[in-house]
Amino acid sequence: MASINPRKEAAYYTREEDSYSCGLCPHRCRIPVDGYGRCGSRRGDADILVAYSYGKVSSICVDPIEKKPLYNFRPRSRIFSVGGIGCNMFCKHCQNYAISMSPSGKKRTTYESPEELVGLCRSERMDAIAFTYNEPMIWYEYIMDVAECDPDLTCVLVTNGLAEEGPLRDLCKVSSAMNIDVKGFTDGFYMKVCGAHLEDVLSSAKTVHEEKVHLELTYLVIPGYNDSEDELTRFSEWVRDELSGEVPVHFTRFHPDNELTDIQWTPVETLMRAQDLAFEAGLSYVYVGNVLNQGAADTYCPECGNVVIKRLGYMVDIVGLDGTRCSNCRKALNIII
Ligand code: SF4
Repeated sequence: MASINPRKEAAYYTREEDSYSCGLCPHRCRIPVDGYGRCGSRRGDADILVAYSYGKVSSICVDPIEKKPLYNFRPRSRIFSVGGIGCNMFCKHCQNYAISMSPSGKKRTTYESPEELVGLCRSERMDAIAFTYNEPMIWYEYIMDVAECDPDLTCVLVTNGLAEEGPLRDLCKVSSAMNIDVKGFTDGFYMKVCGAHLEDVLSSAKTVHEEKVHLELTYLVIPGYNDSEDELTRFSEWVRDELSGEVPVHFTRFHPDNELTDIQWTPVETLMRAQDLAFEAGLSYVYVGNVLNQGAADTYCPECGNVVIKRLGYMVDIVGLDGTRCSNCRKALNIII
């Protein structure tokens, strides 16, 4: 029999006179008693702030790790993937809006206790779990409890990076890899399309990198919104200068969705140009996603150019690796097997 959803107290909040102040993400919502935060994941009760979406699971699937996307982390493996509801960004082009925009309680979910979720994951013979599909940062308490329940599980977050530094550092301690969306490289784009600030996301990427969690970045290229050569170049140069040229970057193809249905699919040439610009800026691992173009999603040795992993869709062949070194020139690569 499924267990009952507990009234779990939220972390990172303070009580004010007749409301609560949530400190989980930079929105810092003021939540009145009987009210909810902007993400829908926190509810003000008379006595405590409640992590309202705790354990409410909307989606479970076993996916190829490449679908997250993570290309340099355990390539060709599968990962138990789970999502809840709600998000702290409000992207007009969200491709998962059925669950991300759903206020907590209104979307059909099932409650899985941390023990039950770990049990499901292990019963699929999986040793890795991804919190994905909707925004995991707002599931902070649940993720921490799942990790505590089974410390041997490899934990991955696929996130928009909108979190305050304290909770993010906590999550880094229990995570082995993260993919962070950098959705554009101007604050105007972030404010207009996503309802957040670019600087907060960049700051999170720096924190994750500093914490030595394996990091990959995804940049969804939207025609007319974030696809100028100048913007794409500045993004790649920022990765090189503020993180490292070794951080893998994915340029992925936009398709019309949610409120942005009047925009066309990203032309393949734009994505290939973004990849060229990133390589020219000095990044070592640059991929084009959502496109079946020979070579565009392959991993090359940055030293000798040898193809080390070939990919076409979710077909993955490891062809030039010896452990985590290039089998041709022996360079140590930023790949975790
Ligand atoms: S986590 Fe949710 S409730 Fe808390 S500050 Fe962010 S949007 Fe507001």
